[in-house]
Amino acid sequence: MSTVSAPARSAALGTAGDPGTRLLGGPPASEGAEPYDAHLRRLGPLPPDASPADLRLLVHASGLAGRGGGQFPTAVKLDQAARATGGAVGRALVVVNSSEGEPASRKDRVLCELRPHLVLDGAQVAARSVRATEVVLYMHRHGRASRAIESAIAERATAEGAVSVTSGATVRLVDAPRRYVAGETSAVVSYLGGLGALPRRTGVPAAVAGVGGRPTVVGNAETIAHLALVARHGAAWFREVGSPGVPGSTLLTLAGGVVRPGEVVEVLGPATIGELLARHGGLGHLPSAVLVGGYEGTWTDGAAAWGAPLDRAGLSLSGVPLGCGLVAPLATRCCGIAETSRIVRWLAGESAGQCGPCVYGLPAVADLLSELAAGAATRRDLRRLRELTGSVRGRGACGHPTGVAGLVESALDTFAGEVRAHLTGRACVSSGELSGLPLPLRREGSGP
Ligand code: SF4
Repeated sequence: MSTVSAPARSAALGTAGDPGTRLLGGPPASEGAEPYDAHLRRLGPLPPDASPADLRLLVHASGLAGRGGGQFPTAVKLDQAARATGGAVGRALVVVNSSEGEPASRKDRVLCELRPHLVLDGAQVAARSVRATEVVLYMHRHGRASRAIESAIAERATAEGAVSVTSGATVRLVDAPRRYVAGETSAVVSYLGGLGALPRRTGVPAAVAGVGGRPTVVGNAETIAHLALVARHGAAWFREVGSPGVPGSTLLTLAGGVVRPGEVVEVLGPATIGELLARHGGLGHLPSAVLVGGYEGTWTDGAAAWGAPLDRAGLSLSGVPLGCGLVAPLATRCCGIAETSRIVRWLAGESAGQCGPCVYGLPAVADLLSELAAGAATRRDLRRLRELTGSVRGRGACGHPTGVAGLVESALDTFAGEVRAHLTGRACVSSGELSGLPLPLRREGSGP
């Protein structure tokens, strides 16, 4: 394996408290949630008098795109909702989605935990821009992130002498179901509408007709928090970092064979995956492969990944989308096929149980992959595996089957050597416990 050395320090990457960071600017992570008075001293109040239309124009000019899978332009979402309300006050709903169903991703949780007031400020900007009077924080309760948000709401109520914490919009927390697909936008809308957290294909964007038919702006915590900084510092400031395709900083979570799985890093760019892994992941060598974008992301060859720029737009164009922002090098002594098999088995069990290709196809994919990892698969099984993954791609009411298919196909290509070895009957001996790729225990009754 080649040896690499850590690059010279620059401001292109940083964690909480590092000078130069944006969403994570302020006190170090060890100090926990930034209190309201410190937040106001550091950033000042939100500009009080911008009109909804002015705010939306500002977001347009910033080029802010969603920090999730689709990178959908936030301003378009706000415009859709504003149009759908016909200008009526209180018709739209804003949902901050911090449910983060990706087991290894922590960026939205960390943001809520350390900078809760930035998230609440962002929700305020979103609410103002569509004249919403209600904000929902959709997140898992009873964790550090939800406690920080609850404390922040209480702080504001005390400071402002009112229960309204977003200048006219009330805020409530909703406990999100702990399922992988429960954070998908249509599942969020369905759950908040009193139905299960089931993805649904309605053909109409949530921003036009979401919860109970109301225009519903759903954004993850990172996307929403960016709004708080755009409103304060402007579009040109926001565009100073990131790339022309996807301006602004990006939060990433490190996992897999790194020194601190779960560490969240803010990328201002330009930086490469290799710089991230050397400086924050503690890697002094090229990993054999890197999983990029989440458990439904893409395995990519380590050497190719090392030099790839951490640019959401560029990575999407090269077929390796950053998705939820997970970057996970394969740990040494772990087998990529065995790791993928473990993840796919878990993902198959996360189906919402309503579409045939997902309910029947994904367990069959998981079975064939397990056999391959165990050295029990034949070339015919491998062909069947490829056919099955191709047949579930694009099927179902949400992107779950397609995401699994993409993960499996990228694993078969990236770990072609391991596939050949397993086909000769060699079983995999690597241990999932050492991979740094966590999988939650499935809970009884944790359905949608
Ligand atoms: S594709 Fe799977 S996860 Fe998505 S809605 Fe259908 S059954 Fe549920």
